[in-house]
Amino acid sequence: MVVSSVPGFDAIIALGSNIGDKACHIADAVQAFTADGWVRLVKRSANYRTAPWGHTDQDWFVNACMSVKTELAPHELLARCQAVERQLGRERTIKWGPRVIDLDILVYRDLALNDPDLVLPHPHITARAFVLVPLADVAPDLVIKGRSVRAWLTELPHDDVVALTPGP
Ligand code: AMP
Repeated sequence: MVVSSVPGFDAIIALGSNIGDKACHIADAVQAFTADGWVRLVKRSANYRTAPWGHTDQDWFVNACMSVKTELAPHELLARCQAVERQLGRERTIKWGPRVIDLDILVYRDLALNDPDLVLPHPHITARAFVLVPLADVAPDLVIKGRSVRAWLTELPHDDVVALTPGP
């Protein structure tokens, strides 16, 4: 088992945007994702201004994450991520390229999954400060690959991940 179970939430979703009114896209995505009774918001991180990853010649990002309670199965939750991306007008272009909104499932309970379309926990959590810093707002004690989010953060430079809104 890769991720230990943490009471209080069923899944954590990472959000990112680097086109247009980024903070507004994040807020709209949180609202759309949790608009009905199937997914309930537990805790939302601050918004963070972060440097682009992958293709670095693109605009800066706003990143955030949220923990949720849900009875939806993992693939149903993935379908909801993709539905909200479509709803907000995301067009799939180049990998790691600019996007109106991106939603990824970071963890789903203590599930470890390696399906072609869904890998859980998300494979890049511990190497990316733009994921770890918001995640530390909502679940600092979550254990991933044997260490807490808080502990992973002590090893990863994250000065370029700057809070835009007050923390939760
Ligand atoms: P992205 O460009 O980040 O939106 O990547 C989306 C692709 O990653 C989709 O084809 C998903 O099926 C796949 N994927 C694999 N694992 C995950 C995950 N944990 N959360 C979201 N998408 C995932």
